[in-house]
Amino acid sequence: MTFPMNIHEYQAKALFAKFGVPAPQGAAARSAAECDTALAGLPEGPTMVKSQIHAGGRGKGTFADGFKGGVKFCRTKAEARELAGRMLGNTLVTAQTGPAGRRVQTVYFTVASDIKKEYYLAILLDRATSRPVIVASTEGGVEIEQVARETPEKLHKVLVDPAYGLADFQVRNLVGRLGFNGDEAKNAARLLRGLHAMYWETDAAMVEVNPLITTPTGELLALDAEVCFDD
Ligand code: ADP
Ligand code: MG
Repeated sequence: MTFPMNIHEYQAKALFAKFGVPAPQGAAARSAAECDTALAGLPEGPTMVKSQIHAGGRGKGTFADGFKGGVKFCRTKAEARELAGRMLGNTLVTAQTGPAGRRVQTVYFTVASDIKKEYYLAILLDRATSRPVIVASTEGGVEIEQVARETPEKLHKVLVDPAYGLADFQVRNLVGRLGFNGDEAKNAARLLRGLHAMYWETDAAMVEVNPLITTPTGELLALDAEVCFDD
């Protein structure tokens, strides 16, 4: 989905942190020197390098010079440093950029998480009712339009009454429909409240987390973040 005034993933995750929406630790860089500083602040181990452009589909994108993948898994920080060098200044073409692509001026290094399962979560304005709608699915990492087309029964929607805000029963209901139990359910409820508070208080047009993941230890983490504002 495209809206005016996008912010980058790393900026969206800074907002997430303010509203208690958990995401893996990360740091952005715009130059070789900044890559060193950014990586110095992260733990050694599996690290993602993520091109920061205003378009989705980065993981499956290809750079103008043939280098594949705008989002890369690296086993070490040294490897992440090297791949960042291939991305910075390069032009990334994805299904959403059009053939001209977008020049990568910033990369984001972030701790690579152990993924148990991927989910989809978004909050946007429902045109028909003019109310915020939470859209969630157990089919994460997939374009939501595809889920709507192929498995609409796996798309869960919650309309929020702007006068009441997000009600406890709505949170419980959605958490249940997504199949969360125990610690995961508690974490999911907290994350939903945080994301809704952020959507509401920042007056965002859309916040999208795809994928939202569970980890083997029962955590929920926002691995991707797209936040848009209207003018
Ligand atoms: P895009 O949607 O633009 O392709 P994502 O941020 O969703 O970019 O990254 C693509 C894929 O890379 C994700 O669906 C996820 O499988 C993987 N990924 C992204 N960030 C992380 C992370 N921190 N740890 C592990 N895997 C990740
Ligand atoms: Mg994504």
